[in-house]
Amino acid sequence: MNIKKLEHFLAENGQLKFRVRQIRQAIYQEGVSSFAEISTLSKELREQLEKELKVLSFDVEKILFSKDKKSAKALLKLSDGNLIETVLISPLEDSWSVCVSSQVGCPLGCEFCSTGKMGFIRNLNAEEITDQVLFWIQKLKTKNQKLSTIVYMGMGEPFLNWEEVSRSLRDLVDPKLFGFGARSLSVSTAGIPAGIEKMAREFPQVNLALSLHFGTDEKRSAVMPINRQNNLEAIREALKKYFELSNRKVFLEYVMLAGINDSQKDAEDLAKFVKSIGKLQLLHINLIRYNSTDTKFQPSSKEHTLQFKNYLLDQNLSVTIRKSLGEEIQGACGQLAGKA
Ligand code: SAH
Ligand code: SF4
Repeated sequence: MNIKKLEHFLAENGQLKFRVRQIRQAIYQEGVSSFAEISTLSKELREQLEKELKVLSFDVEKILFSKDKKSAKALLKLSDGNLIETVLISPLEDSWSVCVSSQVGCPLGCEFCSTGKMGFIRNLNAEEITDQVLFWIQKLKTKNQKLSTIVYMGMGEPFLNWEEVSRSLRDLVDPKLFGFGARSLSVSTAGIPAGIEKMAREFPQVNLALSLHFGTDEKRSAVMPINRQNNLEAIREALKKYFELSNRKVFLEYVMLAGINDSQKDAEDLAKFVKSIGKLQLLHINLIRYNSTDTKFQPSSKEHTLQFKNYLLDQNLSVTIRKSLGEEIQGACGQLAGKA
């Protein structure tokens, strides 16, 4: 919701400040999905608001639920007709996490990623980002459930849209609006050093995830073009700086691609790189199952993944295999392509 527009509208119509508070409370805390539901307002004002403003800046084209009801994906149509996707997952009983998109498409073109294959269309504004959260809050309200965490792991590279992403983070932690704790938020990047530093300075308590996926420049550059400008050395320096500024744990994401980055040598290269960063107690590796999508890549087998993990454990690195949710609805990480 565009809170500035709401404030302006109420001021123009001679409404007192407490009305803004009332409406903010109803929308962000209580999760009402229309002004008509805010019973503390007069009928006339409710009708005026319904006519002039929208609670969500997009229309909902489609919602898909997985059979186990642990994940859902929504296809959203923005006011200019572009489509984006957002996902709700329940990694633990009674705990819900939203995965938000920050751009329509992505300019970085990682070869294994459906979003990357679409190319870049445009940045989302802060309202379009936080409305994805608002949308799921409204849905969860009908089940009496609450949202616990928000991850910027949908479509797009958040650090290439920092102005709007940082505004959205500010709104999410604002106690007058969503009021989430900064530690419930995570931003994932394919490795933009300037962005990593900005986030550490402006939001030292927001979690950082880094999509590493390879332990050598040669392999990383072949599949992730961003590595040709910002290589592993640049990532190492950015993470060192990050630790100086925030001293928080960083999650290194490693998607297991059969025959591409899952051999013993790949595990050795990864261990070597991770050790070269230092501060091992602050680095955690997540091995992620590759979700099959419209690319030539295939997921590694369970055995390979386990062997890979065991080698990293032997090297005294902190590592887990992360299970993926939402694959059957094409709603897992890297499967979002905004197609109807
Ligand atoms: N652009 C940011 C944010 C998107 S996060 C980034 O890349 O970090 C999406 C995550 O899913 C990234 O770690 C990405 O590398 C990973 N990913 C992409 N395609 C995937 C796929 N098909 N299966 C599993 N993970 C994938
Ligand atoms: Fe963009 Fe991230 Fe996909 Fe790479 S993995 S193309 S950076 S969204």
